[in-house]
Amino acid sequence: MHFDSLALSDNILKAIKEQGYQTPSPIQAKAIPAVLAGKDVMAAAQTGTGKTAGFTLPILENLLKGLPAKVNQARVLILTPTRELAAQVEASVTTYGKYLSLTSAVVFGGVKINPQMIKLRKGVDILVATPGRLLDLYNQNAIRFEQLEVLVLDEADRMLDMGFIHDIKRIIAKLPKKRQNLMFSATFSDQIRTLAKGIVNQPVEISVSPPNTTTKSVTQWIHPVDKKKKPELLLHLITENRWKQVLVFSKTKHGANKLTRYLSEFGLNAAAIHGNKSQGARTKALAEFKQGTVKILVATDIAARGLDIDQLPHVVNFDLPQVAEDYVHRIGRTGRAGKTGQAISLVSADESKLLKDIERLTQQILERKLVDGFEPTHDLSQSDTVLKPLKPKKPKKPKQPNKFGQGNHGNDSQKKPEKRRKPKNTRNQSRQNTAKSFKGKR
Ligand code: AMP
Repeated sequence: MHFDSLALSDNILKAIKEQGYQTPSPIQAKAIPAVLAGKDVMAAAQTGTGKTAGFTLPILENLLKGLPAKVNQARVLILTPTRELAAQVEASVTTYGKYLSLTSAVVFGGVKINPQMIKLRKGVDILVATPGRLLDLYNQNAIRFEQLEVLVLDEADRMLDMGFIHDIKRIIAKLPKKRQNLMFSATFSDQIRTLAKGIVNQPVEISVSPPNTTTKSVTQWIHPVDKKKKPELLLHLITENRWKQVLVFSKTKHGANKLTRYLSEFGLNAAAIHGNKSQGARTKALAEFKQGTVKILVATDIAARGLDIDQLPHVVNFDLPQVAEDYVHRIGRTGRAGKTGQAISLVSADESKLLKDIERLTQQILERKLVDGFEPTHDLSQSDTVLKPLKPKKPKKPKQPNKFGQGNHGNDSQKKPEKRRKPKNTRNQSRQNTAKSFKGKR
């Protein structure tokens, strides 16, 4: 299939061609015709599937038909959980719409509100926003929705995880009833389906396999090591193997800072990216990492989510994730699009339970490789993991919105804890799904 057969205008096709895209990705092939036809869409797709273009391209096309946005109005509202994702989505809108005379803006917390208010004064065709800041702007009469035609919820599962449910409901209550709704989420959990019921209307359901289960080839292994020796081992691996670009995952913000300082002391160009960093610092670190000036980016899970950095040669789990699915998200950052990648985990004895969870989820025993001079004194016992998919746990009480999303309008992307809750029933459901798709790969 070619983009030419998708009923998009020449000026959009020209911008796509400039990006070097040859054919629509599976999600694009399905979503573009549905969105063009004005249908509601509910799509299960992760970052890396091309989902952004999947909704942006047909939205741009449809916007060409109507009247331009009036004062303080937006015609399309795209909600994202994090500032980084908001900025990336708007960058895509600008890229794909460069030959059109449509307008767009991005608003998120953590930066001054006044310039955003000024930007919205004339009205914008497409507004990309994080929920908290959008509500602030609405409450200050900087944005109106009478002209709103389309609502997009991007990474809806993550918005729920981050406690944005109430903000989302408040926003939806302010939108015209008649509108097109597009909802994107990594999984269709029960919680997402419940949310969707109040939003989408007879949606076209689209599901594409995550890129990490199909096109890629990732070699994974672990290095058993004592906890104390982890920084030194990482340094050794980076210098010994001359790694040029490595994304390192740390459990905590503090740990990320400490590790970054340690690596910098040895002359390595490292930067940390997490919720306590200012927007400016995060954008700078990401840009420098992509350019290659920063070779090592140390990130927490939540900070890394949604970042458009996914063709990495090496991903290192300095700490194993608390939630096994995050392992899949993390290693999904490497080996994209036919390239090979390495996902290496530094595992200490106290993490053996987490390791077991990962092995059960991914349905594979990870190879253990000892590094000379770093053999652990606290032994990480050989795996006794039984490769049997996890059983769903008993349902827990419904989740209460955490303080994260409540009254958090000024700084909505990642406020306090980057801690993750223990998996719930719905998560276990998705564990099993993921495990299935991994099974087919082995
Ligand atoms: P997304 O899943 O929207 O975050 O997109 C992931 C990456 O795929 C982005 O860097 C896009 O520029 C790229 N991309 C999107 N659509 C295509 C396509 N049809 N062909 C090649 N690359 C694409």
